[in-house]
Parts: sequence; structure tokens; C-alpha cells
Amino acid sequence: MDFLLTEEQVMLRDTVSKFAKERIAPVASDNEKNHRYPADIIKEAGEMGLMGIAYPSEYGGAGMDYVSYFLAVEEISRWCASTGVIVSAHSSLVCDPIYRFGTEEQKQKFLPDLLSGRKIGSFSLTEAGAGSDSGATKTTAVLKGDKWVLNGSKLFATNGKEAEVFVLIASTNPGQKTRGVSAFIVESNTPGYKIGKLEKKLGIKSSSTAEIILEDCEVPKDNLLGDLNKGFKVAMVTLDGGRLGIASQALGIARASFEDSLKYAKERHQFDEPIANFQAIQWMLADMWVEYEAAWLLTWRASMMKDKGMNYNREAAMAKLKASEVAMKAATTAIQIHGGYGYTEDFNVERYFRDAKITELYEGTSEIQRMVIARSLLS
Ligand SMILES: Cc1cc2nc3c(=O)[nH]c(=O)nc-3n(C[C@H](O)[C@H](O)[C@H](O)COP(=O)(O)OP(=O)(O)OC[C@H]3O[C@@H](n4cnc5c(N)ncnc54)[C@H](O)[C@@H]3O)c2cc1C
Repeated sequence: MDFLLTEEQVMLRDTVSKFAKERIAPVASDNEKNHRYPADIIKEAGEMGLMGIAYPSEYGGAGMDYVSYFLAVEEISRWCASTGVIVSAHSSLVCDPIYRFGTEEQKQKFLPDLLSGRKIGSFSLTEAGAGSDSGATKTTAVLKGDKWVLNGSKLFATNGKEAEVFVLIASTNPGQKTRGVSAFIVESNTPGYKIGKLEKKLGIKSSSTAEIILEDCEVPKDNLLGDLNKGFKVAMVTLDGGRLGIASQALGIARASFEDSLKYAKERHQFDEPIANFQAIQWMLADMWVEYEAAWLLTWRASMMKDKGMNYNREAAMAKLKASEVAMKAATTAIQIHGGYGYTEDFNVERYFRDAKITELYEGTSEIQRMVIARSLLS
């Protein structure tokens, strides 16, 4: 679908594809099995500008667009979905709200280190009682003098173990739910901040998922991000962009499932011929590719809309919903095409299957995406 892309976007995609094949692919399985964060790769990605693709060069970004960002996250996730979400959570969920809602001072202070990958970012919205109902935040922030004092605990923060900069949502007007939460920039070296439980997960095991505990954690008054009590808007606008990142991650997993299956179907012989000769297998491959392209087009459209400054809330939800369900189906089909071998660790398709599932859950489950889409259709 290169005809839909600019020369710069194709160049960026091809550069990232080469980097991912040469640097990420050889270590992806081993890192995942050993729950190892790919620190060297993230450092290199930062040096290449991949941790700040869609942000202006004046803050240290690569000065490209969101279509380029989606292409890059797809190429990375084609080989390693863990690395894909590390980049995506950092860029979409931390750099984006600071760039969009931050004061000039906040942008100057935090963006150069984040966009270059010198510091990693993490987004902390979820709590034990606040998942899909993200306005039910119990963590509180109380202004005392020139500090916000934060107390509570957040769950499931991607990059939580490595991150030095958090965008964190806390209640500043308890009882008011979505109208009483605010966003804060919290640095991990702040006294009163600590990492709690690290989740043991089904997939994306090279990325950390952490509990964040805040005990009288004193954050400078100036670290309020956006307006007081308007943190729900910050979170929702941020998640629109985040959903593009997860759609791109899902596309990478779907393409990996397809490409590995195509190769295997040509190589594997049964009944004295390649299994690719059987119509049953051909139809699976055809369906996988059609679905992948449909999801790609939705993601491309939503990214284009973001680049053009349009409201893309519904389109981001559509892209994320479609791409995540396509990834799950493609990974399931890939195991079917690989037969019993697909169920073993000798082939990557079992990893794709485990990784695909998360794309239907985080940054809004599939049910929540359908809710967003339906709400927009009915409004
Ligand atoms: C690996 C991983 C990484 C994550 N990374 C982050 C992160 O970086 N930052 C962060 O803040 N959070 C993160 N999350 C949290 C994630 O976004 C939530 O888990 C997700 O939004 C769902 O919330 P929940 O788990 O509490 O499920 P629940 O909200 O309890 O949902 C349970 C089920 O009920 C359904 N449901 C809930 N409400 C409705 C409704 N109104 N209508 C229909 N169905 C409904 C859901 O779709 C789901 O099927 C991460 C989670 C995981 C597992």
C-alpha cells in the first residue's frame, strides 16, 4: 500500500524494518522467555529518533508524523510485540500528553530526555478498582503549599520498572469521579514513590507491567499537567493516540503470523506435496491477508486524521478494535497452519498467540472500543 505513503514515510518504514530484522528479531524470543527488557535496543531506537518520531525537532523529536509512527511501531512489533509496546506506551501515553497539554516549561524540562529515549516514560491511569471505569480513581493528590501530595497505588503501568517519568492520574476532587481527577508528571526519584508488584504475564514478557505505590509522594506544584480537575480529558485524548499505537502493534503481530504461515505452508509437505497446495490452507492465508489489509487501512486513516488535527476518537477505536481482533485471529490461524509444531516453542507463532491477546485488553478492552464507537454513532 505504498501508494498511500509519502517518500519519507516509506524511507522511515524501510529503515525501521531493517533495524528490527537485524537487531530485534535475533533476540526477541530469548528476551521474552527470560522476561528481559531490551535496554540496548531501546537505547539504539532512541539514537535513531524512534522514541520521538512524531514530535518537533525543537524538543528533540524526529519531526515526522503519526503515519510514520504507526509504520514504525508495526515494523518493530512484526518481530517483537514487547518492544512495540515499550515504544508505543512511551511515545503515545507520555510524550504525547506532555507535548499536547504541557506548559512550555514542562515541555522544555521533560521532552528532550524522553524524545531521545534517554529517559523512559510510563502512563499510570489504572487502579485495582478503576479499570474500564477509569474515572473511579482512588489515588489522591492534595495541594499543600507548593507541593501536590500523592497517596494511593496504581496498577499495570507498562514500562513501570524502567520509567523515570510518569504521567499519572489522581483524584483532586474526591467523589466527583471523571470531573474530579487531574493529570500529573511524576518523576521516579521523588521521595514517597516506589515500585510495587511486577506482574507475571501471559505474553509481552520483555516489557514490564508494574504497580506504582505513592506514600506522601510530594510532587512540585508545577507538575500538574493540563488544568485542575480536567485530567479525565487528558487521559481520554491520550488514549486516542495510544490506541493507534496498539493498533500498530496488533498489525505487526498479524503480519508476523501471516508471513511465518506463508513460509511454513510452502515448506511443510504432507501427502507428498506442500500444504500450501491444499485449498483449506490457501483460504486461511487469503483471509488472514484481507483482514490484515483492512485493519491496516483503518489504522492509516486514523493516523492521517490525527496528523490533520481532526477528531479521530471513533476512528482510533475502530482501528484498535479491528486490528486487535485481526491479530488474535491471525495468531490462532497461524498455529493451525503450523499444526502441532505451532504449539511448541520451536516456532514463533506460539509467542504471537500469547502476545496478540493483550491487544484486545489494554488501552480499553474490545467492549470499551465498541462502546466508544456506538456512543459516537448514536450522538
Ligand atoms: C499487560 C498490561 C499492560 C497495561 N498497561 C497499562 C498502562 O501502561 N497504564 C495503565 O494505566 N493501564 C494499563 N493496563 C491496564 C488496562 O488498560 C486495563 O487492564 C484495561 O483497561 C481493563 O481494565 P480491567 O483489567 O480492570 O478490566 P475490567 O474493567 O474489570 O473489565 C472486565 C471485563 O468487563 C468488561 N466491561 C467493563 N466495563 C464494561 C462496560 N461498561 N460494558 C461492557 N463491558 C464492560 C471488560 O470489557 C472486560 O471484559 C495494562 C494492563 C495489562 C494487562
